[in-house]
Amino acid sequence: MVEQTFSMETPSRYWAFPPYFGGMRRALYFDLSDVIERTPTKTMDTAIRLFNNGLVDIFVNLLGSLDSRMIAADMQKYENYVVKILWLNGTGDQLPLEQIEQAFEDLMPWTEWNITVQTRPIDVDLNTLFENRTIELSKPLNYSFLLANGSEFSILANRNVIWDVWKDSGEYDPISQYLFEHVKYYFNLTSLEDKSIIPVIILQSRNDTAISGVAGIGPSISWFPHNIIILGCQDGTVTAMGESGPILLTHQLIHEIGHWVSLSHHSARFDLGYPKITCSMRALTDKFCVFCKDARTRMSFTAYYQAITELFSNSSNLLTKWEDQEALKLIKSRLNNSLRLFYNWDYAESVEDVIQAYHQLEDMINEAPNESLINAYFIPIMITVTVILLIPTIILIKIKMRKKLKQLRKDNVAKGMI
Ligand SMILES: [Zn+2]
Ligand SMILES: [Zn+2]
Repeated sequence: MVEQTFSMETPSRYWAFPPYFGGMRRALYFDLSDVIERTPTKTMDTAIRLFNNGLVDIFVNLLGSLDSRMIAADMQKYENYVVKILWLNGTGDQLPLEQIEQAFEDLMPWTEWNITVQTRPIDVDLNTLFENRTIELSKPLNYSFLLANGSEFSILANRNVIWDVWKDSGEYDPISQYLFEHVKYYFNLTSLEDKSIIPVIILQSRNDTAISGVAGIGPSISWFPHNIIILGCQDGTVTAMGESGPILLTHQLIHEIGHWVSLSHHSARFDLGYPKITCSMRALTDKFCVFCKDARTRMSFTAYYQAITELFSNSSNLLTKWEDQEALKLIKSRLNNSLRLFYNWDYAESVEDVIQAYHQLEDMINEAPNESLINAYFIPIMITVTVILLIPTIILIKIKMRKKLKQLRKDNVAKGMI
């Protein structure tokens, strides 16, 4: 939920909305009725402005097949994701986790998602850091909301934990840094390279303490390079909000995990003049819009396409000798088909095909060492064995022949022929 600046030249470590080209056969609707009614003369201006501003939302993240600006998060090629939520100081609120799983399986139909939540008290060191970073507020912060029954409910905070997520996405904040350093320990990870395991920490502050200057459900950040998503939350908020509390937190999780799979915000500015899109990257909702689906499938297609091209070129010697050339031809034709679908903007189908082709080629190459073993070891061994067996045989034959010759000579001498 943190806004970032965007630079066209260098890959950004932060989440932004790059205005790359892309999208087709997708409609973006602008509701101009209000402008037509109120300021008819400005209708055309407004329409042009909306269209221009809308382009960045439609044409997100289409990168060329070998675009150097693609970052690690764009290139991820996982088919099974595991989200592990660790709720520090959590009060045991139940979250509708299947909503998150469905949102991502809908965004990336070639993937499966599994989400777990663990609740436990905050560790002593982090608690000390929290207390050291907490200040008393001269004026209390207030977060109010409407309950489903129509009554209003407020949460007050007299204290605030300083967690500066507004500058550099909180990269240099001591609390963020503590969590970056402890993510391996918290989630029992051996490596931070496997991004298919998504560690999420919900930091719950005391019930009188806001976090990062926000009362209620606080801000959140998604740090793919540091392998962690962090959400701040004031104690009691989720429960106090009734049914909508867990839903709001779930939507926030969907948004941050959306960043993890490299989705960007829609529109840097949410004010007038920008089209409104119903999407988890823009609003609190379960679903990702078609533009985000397009963007993610284009990135995944590119990632798999690059990987399969590398497999082909690294194993070209082996593959030219491959005995079942028909099977190889089928893989190549599947790959060509995926490319055709990609250029035809049938992105979801193109990803399905390129993934299948990739795994088939991978299997073929994995089987190949046995075949090359035969060539590498079997033939030389056979030659050696033959030579070893042949030499004594030849020697034996020679000895036998000599004996025969000697005998013949003896016989001939005896017969007086020499
Ligand atoms: Zn965001
Ligand atoms: Zn979207």
